[in-house]
Amino acid sequence: MKVPLLMTPGPTYVHEDVRRAMAMAITNPDLDESFFKFYRETCGKLKQLLITQNDVLILSGEGILGLEAACASLIEPGDRVLCIDNGIYGHGFGDFAKIYGGNVVYFKSDYRRAVDVNGLRDFLEEDHNFKIATLVHCETPSGITNPVSEICPLLKKYGIISIVDSVSAIGGENLKTDEWQMDVVIGGSQKCLSAPPGLTFLSLSREAWHKILQRETPVTGYYGNLANWKNWYEEKWFPYTQPISDIYGLRVAVERLLEEESFVLRHKKIGEAVRQALVESGLELYPLDGFSNTVTTLLIPEGLSFKDIYSTMLKDYNIMIAGAFDFLKDKVVRIGHMGENCHEEKLYVTLKAFNNVLEKFNVKLNKKIYHIYQEMME
Ligand SMILES: *Cc1c(COP(=O)(O)O)cnc(C)c1O
Repeated sequence: MKVPLLMTPGPTYVHEDVRRAMAMAITNPDLDESFFKFYRETCGKLKQLLITQNDVLILSGEGILGLEAACASLIEPGDRVLCIDNGIYGHGFGDFAKIYGGNVVYFKSDYRRAVDVNGLRDFLEEDHNFKIATLVHCETPSGITNPVSEICPLLKKYGIISIVDSVSAIGGENLKTDEWQMDVVIGGSQKCLSAPPGLTFLSLSREAWHKILQRETPVTGYYGNLANWKNWYEEKWFPYTQPISDIYGLRVAVERLLEEESFVLRHKKIGEAVRQALVESGLELYPLDGFSNTVTTLLIPEGLSFKDIYSTMLKDYNIMIAGAFDFLKDKVVRIGHMGENCHEEKLYVTLKAFNNVLEKFNVKLNKKIYHIYQEMME
């Protein structure tokens, strides 16, 4: 298999050190006490990343499992759930809530902008009788980061428990779980952490635990029931055998990120340069504000198809970029600048290739995309 330069918004390039860690000999993770310690220490590193004192769990499954487990465990049939919706993931969260019996009410906000906090404030003044709210930190398909620092404290004011999908933001955006009063924060291994797909992790506040443990109805399902995890360390018991090699890899991936003090700044700087380069060359971004540090979503120039851009990037340059799905299918291309992909030279070669592909298809650019990028990075 010829491995392309992976510039998609997840999965991202996996560093050799992470891959090497995954090749280490394993022990029996259900029996070996040293693994329980290792798992707990790894959760401790994630706590550092999330800036929280809350419990953190690593679950065996992709990011979607984290979202589903949070909904399964926190939502009881009939609970009123506020779904904050300014994009595909935000809207989809409501579907998970419904699966578990949530009585979902949507707060809709412009899909091309960050969530309108003032609008949400007005909305909540009228109606705040919600147990739970779901929201997305970074809407990966549209490339928009939402102001969770304002939204979560606002929800807390009304005693609403927040479940935040931060899968594509953790490691690339500012995130202060405790200071911002975020109850459940969900991440995944394959975005800015740059470990392979397969793990999700989440932090749970005291209020979130309380809601889970004081339910009147049992949780539907086992794998997604977080109550099973309450005393895993004290009892030295995992609800299921842990994917030990994946956790070895994740540990190194988190350490690599934490070693670097200014990882958010790196993402911010490169994100800005990529956007500026595309815009100055005459292209149009999908978002109108709330630009993400970790992914750039660009409208496909008139007359071009996603398939042409994607396959030419791959065939001529061996670089993989992404499209999007749902209503954005065939309308946008996305360039990821997450984690191990978020380095100056990787974006340079990507933008140069992208520039050349567009010119090959006769798109007129005001200026070479990669020249503007290079100037921005000086
Ligand atoms: C990647 C991602 C997930 C995980 O889902 P995928 O199966 O990888 O698409 C969840 N939420 C967001 C916002 C993501 O970007």
